[in-house]
Amino acid sequence: MDFKQKIRVVQDFPKEGIRFKDITTLMKDGEAYKLAISNIADLVTGLDVDVIVGPEARGFVIGAPLAIHLGKGFVPVRKSGKLPGEIVESAYDLEYGKDTLAIHKDAIEPGQKVLIADDLLATGGTIATTIDLIEKLGGIVVGCVFLIELTYLDGRDKINGDYPVHSLVKY
Ligand code: IMP
Repeated sequence: MDFKQKIRVVQDFPKEGIRFKDITTLMKDGEAYKLAISNIADLVTGLDVDVIVGPEARGFVIGAPLAIHLGKGFVPVRKSGKLPGEIVESAYDLEYGKDTLAIHKDAIEPGQKVLIADDLLATGGTIATTIDLIEKLGGIVVGCVFLIELTYLDGRDKINGDYPVHSLVKY
């Protein structure tokens, strides 16, 4: 399937100059959504994973179905102030802004093997912060998967680990 045909590109959203990749048009198509998750799962075949971590909010719509597909648990990373339990936090820069991400302290056991999933790799700020949170808890990142990678923003360069980074659709 040509997933690019299912992804709407919106010029100047949320700011001028940004060509926003809108995955809602892919997600509303049940066949395309299911196939995207199954193809992302294929990208990590053979990887030894205990748990999937996905950052708010679009990381949930990729990470949670991927977790179910792989029969693994899902751990949310959220913006500051959203998680009710004890948390660790980390500040970060976005392609268009600044924010703080948090994870529950008891969400990951030291030594657990973590696969990170998100909808889109842009500058890599979100994923670098997510990796930081996982490593603060003693988790071991074993890979990162994305539905979309904006290769021209070189987000991969912010991921310095010795593990695979895969994306299904590249711009
Ligand atoms: P990064 O931190 O610069 O890599 O940006 C990635 C995060 O920003 C992801 O969690 C995305 O959900 C969001 N994001 C950035 N650009 C886009 C876009 O064009 N479409 C959808 N989400 C985007």
